[in-house]
Amino acid sequence: MKADLFDQRRLLELQAVDTTLTQLDQRRRKLEADDAVPAARRRIQALNDRVASLQADIADLDRDIKRIEQEVELVTKRAENDRSRMASGAAAPKELEGLQSELESLARRQNSLEDDELEYMERREGLEGELAESRSQAEEAERALAEAEADHAGKLERLKTETDDASSDRRALTIAIPDRLVELYERIHARQPIAAAELVGRRCGSCRIEKSPADMAPIQAAPIDEVLRCEECNAILIRSDPPTDSGRPAPRDELDEFTR
Ligand SMILES: [Zn+2]
Repeated sequence: MKADLFDQRRLLELQAVDTTLTQLDQRRRKLEADDAVPAARRRIQALNDRVASLQADIADLDRDIKRIEQEVELVTKRAENDRSRMASGAAAPKELEGLQSELESLARRQNSLEDDELEYMERREGLEGELAESRSQAEEAERALAEAEADHAGKLERLKTETDDASSDRRALTIAIPDRLVELYERIHARQPIAAAELVGRRCGSCRIEKSPADMAPIQAAPIDEVLRCEECNAILIRSDPPTDSGRPAPRDELDEFTR
């Protein structure tokens, strides 16, 4: 195939755009696999579960405390009644003895209930502290999630803009470059990421393999508008510099005409 060297060299621009598109796609995949947003959501869920569990524990304690207070009230009332009965002077000595014994028993019961209540109140205070801490952590986690989401959306938006720009560059290039050259490029590009590469010195820009002088001979002998392929990697091999190590003079004027 023959093609103007200027058009051939535009394949390098197309290749650069395709390389950019590949990199953008890799960045998008990496971003999609990024765990920051799901991790922030999981943290919020865990903290909300913790808050709910603490609230339930506190509600249980409140019920226990209320039950104890009601019992203390009953015990107090009973002791008051016993004391009134004793003070009335109407009780017989035997009854007085019984009342005295009951008062002692009621006092022990009251002490025990008040100890329990104190213990429950202390436990409740501890849970309230944990609840406040968990709530504040949940609020912090909400802020972190909002930040992670905004960061993710911003990166995705920038990637989309860059991808749209590169795609539009690609369209413009495929229109500007002759069809058969684009078709050849696309056929190769479907099989390998680098479809067009520059020949720098004796080295292929795609496979990086340095060509032997024997391999270079046909390349140097080929007309400048001949579309060459790398025998190693199959890429379209595009000459930038005129051959200089073959002994024949460099066709500088001809190249200038194509690349200006
Ligand atoms: Zn190669």
